[in-house]
This record gives sequence, C-alpha cells and structure tokens, in this order.
Amino acid sequence: MRAMVMEEQGEPLLEREVQDPEPSEGQVLLEVAACGVCRTDLHIYDGELTEPKLPLILGHQIVGRVIENGESASRFAEGERVGVPWLGWTDGTCRYCRSERENLCENGKFTGYDLDGGYAERVVADERFCFPLPGETPDPHLAPLLCAGLIGYRSLRLAGHGERLGLYGFGSSAHLICQVAVAQGWRVFALTRKGDTVTQQLARELGAEWAGAVGDPEASDLDAAIVFAPVGELMVEALRAMAPGGTVVSAGIHMSDIPSFPYELLWHERTMRSVANLTRRDGEEFLPLAQSIPVRTEIKVYPLADANRALDDIRHGRVRGSAVLAVGG
Ligand SMILES: [Zn+2]
Ligand SMILES: [Zn+2]
Repeated sequence: MRAMVMEEQGEPLLEREVQDPEPSEGQVLLEVAACGVCRTDLHIYDGELTEPKLPLILGHQIVGRVIENGESASRFAEGERVGVPWLGWTDGTCRYCRSERENLCENGKFTGYDLDGGYAERVVADERFCFPLPGETPDPHLAPLLCAGLIGYRSLRLAGHGERLGLYGFGSSAHLICQVAVAQGWRVFALTRKGDTVTQQLARELGAEWAGAVGDPEASDLDAAIVFAPVGELMVEALRAMAPGGTVVSAGIHMSDIPSFPYELLWHERTMRSVANLTRRDGEEFLPLAQSIPVRTEIKVYPLADANRALDDIRHGRVRGSAVLAVGG
C-alpha cells in the first residue's frame, strides 16, 4: 500500500510503498477513505512529543471501511464505515481505566504515535476503540470530528457551565466546538490573532456572538475559556478575562511555558486545567450529538501525497477550519 512515512522526527514525510498491515486478534483492517491532519501531528513531527514509534505513519482522525476482520473481531460488518481516534488501546486494568478515566491509562497506546495511523491506504485498529459512523455525511467531513471535535467536546464539558465562553485560537477544533457551544446556549467569544479578519468572519458565521483580537476588553467577564492555540501566554490572558468561578481549559497536548502571574488572577475560585486525550464515552456522546446539531465541518482537502504541505499550512495558519487528506477513491 501507499503511505506517507516518518522515518525521523523533523524530516519530511516520505511517500513509500509499504507492506499492508494484517489485523491481529480483535483488530479490523480498514481501507482508509479520509484522514484529518491535527496540530498534534505537527507536534510529533517537530519532536515536541518525544517518543513516537519510528518509522511511523501519522494520522489519528481516520474514516475508513472494514475490509477484513481479525480473529475474534466481530463488532463491524465488512464494508461498514468506522472512525479511528487518537486513543488506540488501553490496558483496562490500571487505576485510571478502573475509574472511568481511560484517557489517562498508564499503558495507553495512541493512533499515529504508538501505532501506525491513517496517512496511508490501509490501517489496522482495535475494534473496541473504533466508532461506527453511520449516515450520509461525506467521508472527509467526518474526519475532523474524530479528534478536533472530540477533544473540543471534552474541553467544553470540563469547562463547566455558564453564559459567556471564550475560544482562544479559532482553528480546526474551535470551529467545530463553537457550533456545539452555541447549540448548548453559550454566548461565544472567538479570540484570534489581531487582524485575522478571515477567521473572525468564520467564527461569526458559525454562531459566535463576537469575534476579535486577543486582549480586546469586549471579551471579558467570561465564565469559561478554552485555549486551543499552543501558546502559554494565552492561558494567563484567558485567566485575566475570567469572571469569578470561571475555568480556563487548555485543549492542546503541547504548549509553550505558561508565564508566572499574580495570585489575584486565580483568586475567587478560578480554575486552570488541561484536557488529555479522550475516552470512548466522549465519542459515543459527541458523534451522535454532532450529527443531530448538525455540526458543519469547514475543510481543506489534500491528496495523501501532499501531507507535508497540509502540515505546513497548519503550521502557518493557512487552513480555514480543518485540513483533511483524501485517501481512497
Ligand atoms: Zn489503563
Ligand atoms: Zn488530534
């Protein structure tokens, strides 16, 4: 099969002909139709996440169809459309797994990091960690839901309740979760780089009440904020905009250092926290919800061979919404 292979971190992905993977016990073999490109892929590529398997096939927002069941795999029929997310395997026995926090599993394995992912024509996945993807939505439009959507959803849930929600950075994840937040009754304030009117316009189209530059006093007295951009300063900036009792959530897997700040910014029961990975329950809740709202995905599609260009476009903020590799067909 054709795949984009990362031999070393920091080196461009190489288009290669590699052996088809074979499904082991409990796994399905999928024909990949589309795979979303996530900022996490960029953090792996850049070496900010330090322990990937190598060589590695990136990609953890996979939409594919089952072409073969491994031994004892029976959850999905041949031809069924399924999604493969970042959480690829857990031990099921550690104290986190036993307390419904499998996202924190001590031995968790992640798709496109510990396990080969979806920048390829075929992939294997543990059937227990796949999600069924029924319905008529075209494959590339579903891919961003599998991480950008899911992590955004988990962040929104952990942000708590209130009226005014700030979204810091309005890329792949924020453009999806803005729609969910609006459907849940939040008044959304989208904060972008100064002068990024294209992104601000997208935010308003997707239901944000206000969109403008980080630091604008209009976006203050917030009950919650989610920081999507991997910039530590924004955590403090968001904390500055919090009302008493408000929560600032970092949705990213990597971020630059958070500068020190006076305690009074945190005082009055403000909270600052991170969100890590996902549980299967997050997906079981979010995917049907996204379908019912329905969440609209704004995508930029690239052929598989252009994965390097897609990563570069994300790095330079050139993607409006989500980048997706179209693999099959
Ligand atoms: Zn575990
Ligand atoms: Zn991701």
